[in-house]
Amino acid sequence: MSSERINSFKTGPDENGRFGTFGGRFVSETLMPLILDLEAEYERTKTDQAFWDEMNHLWTHYVGRPSPLYFAERLTERLGGAKIYMKRDELNHTGAHKINNVLGQIILARRMGKTRIIAETGAGQHGVATATVCAKFGLQCVVYMGAHDVERQKPNVFRMKLLGAEVVPVTSGRGTLKDAMNDALRDWVTYVRDTFYCIGTVAGPHPYPAMVRDFQSIIGKEARTQMMEAEGRLPDTVIAAIGGGSNAMGLFHPFLDDRSVRIIGVEAGGKGVDDRMEHCASLTGGRPGVLHGNKTYLLQDDDGQILEGFSISAGLDYPGIGPEHSWLHETGRAKYVSVTDREALEAFQLSCETEGIIPALEPSHALAHVAKIAPGLPKDHVICMNMCGRGDKDIFTVAKALDWTMTESD
Ligand SMILES: *Cc1c(COP(=O)(O)O)cnc(C)c1O
Repeated sequence: MSSERINSFKTGPDENGRFGTFGGRFVSETLMPLILDLEAEYERTKTDQAFWDEMNHLWTHYVGRPSPLYFAERLTERLGGAKIYMKRDELNHTGAHKINNVLGQIILARRMGKTRIIAETGAGQHGVATATVCAKFGLQCVVYMGAHDVERQKPNVFRMKLLGAEVVPVTSGRGTLKDAMNDALRDWVTYVRDTFYCIGTVAGPHPYPAMVRDFQSIIGKEARTQMMEAEGRLPDTVIAAIGGGSNAMGLFHPFLDDRSVRIIGVEAGGKGVDDRMEHCASLTGGRPGVLHGNKTYLLQDDDGQILEGFSISAGLDYPGIGPEHSWLHETGRAKYVSVTDREALEAFQLSCETEGIIPALEPSHALAHVAKIAPGLPKDHVICMNMCGRGDKDIFTVAKALDWTMTESD
């Protein structure tokens, strides 16, 4: 369906959890009652003012919201075109947007009487956010993390342990996020009674994609208000990096029905989006299939086997993408592009040099696309990019990659 024929992009998902043909609830019979239970509780909760009062209080006093909307003046000058704003979600407690969503799910878990929280994590940011909020509420926390990611994200593993979480290294597959999510789903079925599965992105079976989006939408709601204050109008373009797609969905959703706002999602192009499949660009380089309980675009081979993604950024290393993005892609409401590791590394340095902001490698992908398009846009064109995480966790990866890049180009 083309986008002109759709009245509102904000009404999804339908009662079956579908965004167009995407999403849904592809789970085993043993998991189904848990999912239905969660859905019923979320439906009750999301219209309960007491729940949102608690969220707003913690967002303000624990997370540090609202995050600033920052005009990146030197970056704008350097690129010589569009006016660039950064939504500073890297300033949140724990250093990324993940905690916006974790707070929502854990308050929900407490309302459901659950005492044991499980989570999957890739870069470790969602694991750290979950361990943090569990510590705050005195809940048991178990985090599944691919063994490969445990190796390359050591500081976050240590953080989770300090916060009292148990980190379980997952060795199946290539030991990355996809495999960690499979093991977390298995755990959930095994320890049904007291366990709540806190998913870190807009993926998984319904109601997770909608629920995580609703919690992350605080990013876009704030950005909308702040942009009206700063510029007296809406931005012309909003841009965010995409792993599973939660920070992007959070920024995009409040703008979906503002047709003047161009929406761009940036996937991880790894070493380049081509037949070697050394990338994580599910929309630009994959096709529809079913993974982790929902139908969406996936990286897969000719037989439908899921391929392992590749990216310098562990947080973008997921072979799928939230189903709502697949739908926004097919309707044309949002546009999806990819940038390579090398381009993201250049943008990482650009942000450090011009703005004194060390970004995570994930938003460096969004910034790389900003750097591509801004010079060709008029000076009154306003871009809002989501600076969804800080780069402390990535400095060793970057140091190693820069050496490698310099030797390569010598
Ligand atoms: C986890 C993470 C991502 C990827 O997850 P999304 O669900 O796509 O937002 C991106 N950036 C940062 C900083 C992260 O921690």
